[in-house]
Amino acid sequence: VKKIFLILLFLSFSVFAKNHDFVVKSGDNLGKYFQKSKISQSVLINLINSSSKTKRLNNLKIGKKLRIVKENNKFKKLVYFYSGKYSLVVELYGTKFNTNFVKNYSKQSQKYTKYQFKISKNLFRDGGKSGLNFSQLQNINKEISKHINTSKLRKNDVFQVFFKGQDLLAIKYFGRKKIHIFNWNGNFYNQDGKVVYDMFLAKPLNYKRISSGFSYNRFHPILKTYRPHRAIDYAANKGVKVFATASGKVIRKGYHKALGNVVEIKHAYGYSTVYAHLSKFAKIYKGGRVKQGQTIGYVGSTGRSTGNHLHYELKNNGKYFNPLKHRPKLNFKLKGAELRSFTKYIKEFK
Ligand SMILES: [Zn+2]
Repeated sequence: VKKIFLILLFLSFSVFAKNHDFVVKSGDNLGKYFQKSKISQSVLINLINSSSKTKRLNNLKIGKKLRIVKENNKFKKLVYFYSGKYSLVVELYGTKFNTNFVKNYSKQSQKYTKYQFKISKNLFRDGGKSGLNFSQLQNINKEISKHINTSKLRKNDVFQVFFKGQDLLAIKYFGRKKIHIFNWNGNFYNQDGKVVYDMFLAKPLNYKRISSGFSYNRFHPILKTYRPHRAIDYAANKGVKVFATASGKVIRKGYHKALGNVVEIKHAYGYSTVYAHLSKFAKIYKGGRVKQGQTIGYVGSTGRSTGNHLHYELKNNGKYFNPLKHRPKLNFKLKGAELRSFTKYIKEFK
């Protein structure tokens, strides 16, 4: 486990982009620049054969600029500035070359890097193949999870994501529904300048299965009586991280005979959530604030429990709700001049 963690840590900090810039001289060809950039000739051959648009690279014009971008010591992108206005851009996504004639590339390239990928397995695997690193993918996952369940992505769903360095600027998702969201001062809005998303994360942990659902009449395995179970029980291994499903204030952190180690968080609009049977607490304290997604404790079997699981409750002013069915939405809309600047800004993401 430790080894895997270290590898992930390494991946998340290890995207080094390096530009190799050339001015075409008499007698030069692309092969020479690839050699100088220490990129194998097989990459060059695949690139040239990937599209008819690359024909332009067979006869480089003297005096024109050419840039080869390497990421993690591997070929990532080639830009041939063949005219004042247009450039030929060949970018490698996973194993596929994407070739385009781009207008005013040098202006655009400072704005963002675009990554595009199709789902064949899952967000992390397919996104990783497109050149995104682990922390970038975590960011994408966090934002898009507010709109869709990322474990239910379908084959051939398409993602276009836009980054400036490690900053996620925009996500365009084309799947069962179209979701386009844009980072505007740290919050993600849709194309109409609205933020609408679930107030609570879909789940408080990465669980194995739901061992007991929400019911008003359940046979209790220890008490041997029928009692309501106004919560969801998520079976998971001991020590699995439990996170706050929404931001709020910790109003309970302690031991209870039935619930074991328990945390309760008070959220906006009269809501609160309860996390029970924890093996231990994370570094949180009663009265302190926690952020959505923050680890608050670890799965265990303390209190009245027959095995490792998380007992999770959602309440509103004392009334219990089924967290799988009751999904309150948050919304906010930009207005006036801010909305106008936002609308202009999001047109940059193509
Ligand atoms: Zn329970």
